[in-house]
Amino acid sequence: MQQLKIFNTLTRQKEEFVPLYPPHVGMYVCGPTVYNYVHLGNCRTFTSFDIIYRYLTHLQYKVRYVRNITDVGHLENDADEGEDKIAKKAKLENLEPMEIVQRYTLDFHSVMQLLNNISPSIEPAATGHIVEQIAMTQKLIDNGFAYESKGSIYFDVSKYAEANYEYGKLSGRVIDELVAGSRDLDGQHEKHSPEDFALWKKASKEHIMRWDSPWGEGFPGWHLECSVMSSKYLGLQFDIHGGGMDLKFPHHECEIAQSVGANGVEPVRYWLHANMLTINGTKMSKSLGNSILPQELFAGTHSLLTQAYSPMTLRFAMLQTHYRSTMDISNDALKAAQKGYKRVMNGLRIIRQLVYVENSQNVIDTKQIEEIRRLIDEMYEGMNDDFNTAVALAALLNLLKKINSIHNGVFPIYTLDRDTFDLLKKSYITFVEDIFGLKEEDETSLQQVMKVFLEIYKEAKHNKNFEQVDKLRTHFKSLGVVVKDMKDKIDWSYEE
Ligand code: AMP
Ligand code: ZN
Repeated sequence: MQQLKIFNTLTRQKEEFVPLYPPHVGMYVCGPTVYNYVHLGNCRTFTSFDIIYRYLTHLQYKVRYVRNITDVGHLENDADEGEDKIAKKAKLENLEPMEIVQRYTLDFHSVMQLLNNISPSIEPAATGHIVEQIAMTQKLIDNGFAYESKGSIYFDVSKYAEANYEYGKLSGRVIDELVAGSRDLDGQHEKHSPEDFALWKKASKEHIMRWDSPWGEGFPGWHLECSVMSSKYLGLQFDIHGGGMDLKFPHHECEIAQSVGANGVEPVRYWLHANMLTINGTKMSKSLGNSILPQELFAGTHSLLTQAYSPMTLRFAMLQTHYRSTMDISNDALKAAQKGYKRVMNGLRIIRQLVYVENSQNVIDTKQIEEIRRLIDEMYEGMNDDFNTAVALAALLNLLKKINSIHNGVFPIYTLDRDTFDLLKKSYITFVEDIFGLKEEDETSLQQVMKVFLEIYKEAKHNKNFEQVDKLRTHFKSLGVVVKDMKDKIDWSYEE
């Protein structure tokens, strides 16, 4: 089998994958900021890394997969200004910030489960690592790469450059451009230079998420948590760091600077970035107001959708695109994915039932055998070429044609030798289930969808948004479901 090659965003080339301590692999993926429901864009990035995790595991690597939960420090604007996203939502809803965190973490987990994404080995939260974040900030001050200004601590980009470290090497940004491009923002006057970024922010009187520190009460900057938690659980140097393309700058650029400034070593061997999910060519994002929630897709309630699409249909659509290419969501693409998914699952049922039978006449068809073996190699070649699921899936669909031909009697099973048949069966099942993560969907999916959907319903009721409550009830009806508002809880049942 050929060697796995990975495109490294840092070196901008495909490199052979050589882990630091084989067979162990350390992989860190930036998780969601849990202030809102995850949208399909977020889902795409997490599913891309799920498939990468699955494939590495299939190759017998022992992967420690860390995906964090951002529950503090992500400000509305990446340039260290604005309110904390979670604190803002908590104020708006008159809830504890941790109630917001709990609600959206649960939503995130349900959606990940529906999409059949495997849970990470460790899922650390930023608020659980405040002590370590303070310690790292202190280390950066001690090393001369950070300074205090009005109770906040900032990373000093020019000191970093003076020490001959290259800020901007991941994203390709040049410091002068950053300075010229910066606006006169809130908090900028505290910084020595606009490209500096916050490690620790002083909490204003109104700020509700705050911790004691050597510099007074405050809260950590967003980038710091990932440097702290990746090094804590994977070591100062580890193999893979992932996230969406939009995190390259400033988030990941700052992460490198923090880790190098504090520990003197390059933290990550391979930087991987998943490309954006777009809608009509524009990045799907909460702030642009064009986001579709997975629940809306699964129930078909979004105005841009002509019907409901299941979690596995969405997963199939994602597999059809390489993770480094943009993926545009559309009814046509989803309809095609729905068909493709059903065909692949049919193939799975067929191949499971097929039993090899020998024939005394021994009429082996070497051409068929070669073609089947070639297609299996192509699936591996696709995955080994920077996890190209599009190529691997295309080969699998061709393999499916062979399976259907055997099933329909176009060519009898005994024209294959037993080894080839066993390999065909094993490879098809392994790729569909273990690597692509596709599973059979049945009624239980509706139950899972309803669990997630009822959360939105409850929230609409809580906010007295009766228009949305009515709309949701109509949609439930179309699914053959009635919602029951009981005294102490909300439940549902199938319509009688
Ligand atoms: P956030 O919750 O905004 O921190 O985002 C969580 C993850 O989703 C990050 O890795 C983002 O890069 C990723 N992400 C956000 N929007 C999109 C999108 N439209 N397509 C793909 N990934 C996205
Ligand atoms: Zn991160």
